[in-house]
Amino acid sequence: MHEKARTTRLEKLRFSGWRWVGVLAVVAVLAWLALRGLPDGRLHVYFLDVGQGDAILVTAPDGRQILVDGGPSPTALLSELGDLLPFWDRDLDLVVLTHPDGDHVTGLIPLLDRYRVAQVLDVPQSDTAASTAAWRERLVAAKTPRTYAQRGMRLSVGDLRITVLNPAATPMRGTASDENNNSIVLRLDYGQTSLLLTGDAETAAEAAMIAAGLSLRADVLKVGHHGSNGSTSAPFVAAVAPRVAVIQVGADNTFGHPNPEVLKRLAGVQVYRTDQQGRIEVVSDGRLVWVK
Ligand SMILES: [Zn+2]
Repeated sequence: MHEKARTTRLEKLRFSGWRWVGVLAVVAVLAWLALRGLPDGRLHVYFLDVGQGDAILVTAPDGRQILVDGGPSPTALLSELGDLLPFWDRDLDLVVLTHPDGDHVTGLIPLLDRYRVAQVLDVPQSDTAASTAAWRERLVAAKTPRTYAQRGMRLSVGDLRITVLNPAATPMRGTASDENNNSIVLRLDYGQTSLLLTGDAETAAEAAMIAAGLSLRADVLKVGHHGSNGSTSAPFVAAVAPRVAVIQVGADNTFGHPNPEVLKRLAGVQVYRTDQQGRIEVVSDGRLVWVK
């Protein structure tokens, strides 16, 4: 009888000990999540794993957050954002829609249900895709400020400088795809490092940016139009002279992206692909750029 009472007491003690371990583990996880959400003075550019389409999350060195395109799937986008942003963080400082195509805009439609978007950078192109109309209706309903992008616009996000390289003041007409060629192209500069985010800009837009004498040289190039052969022309690759190229592309896509000719033109450049590597993170400390 006496023995049994002792055992019970010991078991109780042991249980209460495990409970403390559990509480400490929860505290440790919360502390880790809190630290993870703090800015680290570095620029992080995440090429999200959303299938055949573009969605890029930029975390500025001061912690502000910019989303460039939303990819083809709301589920994939929200899952990627949920993975990367702390659970209490529901603010996006800027959302950019490079052009109104389904593989860039569809993921954005339910974004406002979960995130507060401070402002949107858009293009003055009509709603050719039903999903673009749906997204723009949501923006109007939420009274989200919307600005049209134009070459030469600049935005400072702490020490991160963002420059709009495309579209020009007069949008392109009569190209192979005006919609793609009027894509918003952004240049990101942090310290001595730079990235180009090109949307689905094709050869005509690339030639126009070269002809305009824009500063195109960059460490990292987001390859235009998912590696289609109509983009990433040899003169553009020479003008950018990237060390790293990222292709956002879905596995087994029906377009044959990325095109083997594009990969040839990128010979000597370190190429990363979301269909092979999943989410790709580029980090810059202002001096060096590296890929995770
Ligand atoms: Zn696209």
